Amino acid sequence: MISIERKYPKKLLILESILRRLPQDNPEYEKYLRQYKIAKHGYEGELRVDREWKDIQLELKHFLLHSYQTINEHGTIHQIDTIFLSCQFVLLLEIKNISGTLVFDEDKYQFLRTQVDNTIESFYNPIDQIERHAILIKTIMNKMDLYIPIEIAIVIANSATIIGVKPRDTLIFHVSGLRSKVNKLILKHPKPRITLEQLVSFKETLLEMYCDVELLPKFEKSNLVKGAICSNCNSSVPMKYTRGVFCCNRCNFTSRNAIFESLHDYRLLFDEWITNNRVRQFFGIESIYSANKLLKRANLVSYGNNRGRKYLIPNDILEKSK
Ligand SMILES: [Zn+2]
Repeated sequence: MISIERKYPKKLLILESILRRLPQDNPEYEKYLRQYKIAKHGYEGELRVDREWKDIQLELKHFLLHSYQTINEHGTIHQIDTIFLSCQFVLLLEIKNISGTLVFDEDKYQFLRTQVDNTIESFYNPIDQIERHAILIKTIMNKMDLYIPIEIAIVIANSATIIGVKPRDTLIFHVSGLRSKVNKLILKHPKPRITLEQLVSFKETLLEMYCDVELLPKFEKSNLVKGAICSNCNSSVPMKYTRGVFCCNRCNFTSRNAIFESLHDYRLLFDEWITNNRVRQFFGIESIYSANKLLKRANLVSYGNNRGRKYLIPNDILEKSK
């Protein structure tokens, strides 16, 4: 049973909005594009492993918490790709979607990747990462007087990746091996260590401790193009708003829905609140009346009266255009 579903990361949403609004000749464009590709690739790897879980039918009662995030008592953050909870054992997964040949050097705490062209790169060792998470989970369990074995594993989502040297005692395997590894762990820990009631209360405690700790990209707001961006040609000159329609000067594409896409970006990059004045500044509209009409069409919930009125942009603003 899935207790926390994996959500589309906010970091990716923000990077998509930045890339839509940062001119391609800006010196920082490539940096954000690189960040986006890496994060997107990682997320796709996580989804690949989630799909594998869906295919695994277990009789053992269990809970899955995907992309679990929390802060420990020292104030540092934990992002655990997947937690599997059962009465017999707990399994923590770190998911890597990396290509090439991977080498885990236990002595030097090094994690190296060699690519086809023989370039070697060093990454933060995922074993250290997952062991740190295991300490957190153990601390929480001990406080609740629960003692369940904790297993850790690194799952490689890319089937073409070659797993080279690795520590003997650490589970590192391709996603296709997940079913078999989980079944082996069930055989390794055949007896329930806690009752189902205790398991549920442990899960509830973890859910209560959940908080959004995703590290979000930093950016210079003044570098971003304001207004409605043409979804047809992506011109860095914003669309012009006349008589209820946005029109692109470059390709003549017209859109009534550009308001929703723009407010979606506005919410992610500037503020979740907007006022009539801000609408005029952002879209380059002079008339208060036209700005009001646009806000009405967006159908936003408003607070306050007259000049102080502000509107809340919901996180599903894009759905409203459908
Ligand atoms: Zn256009």
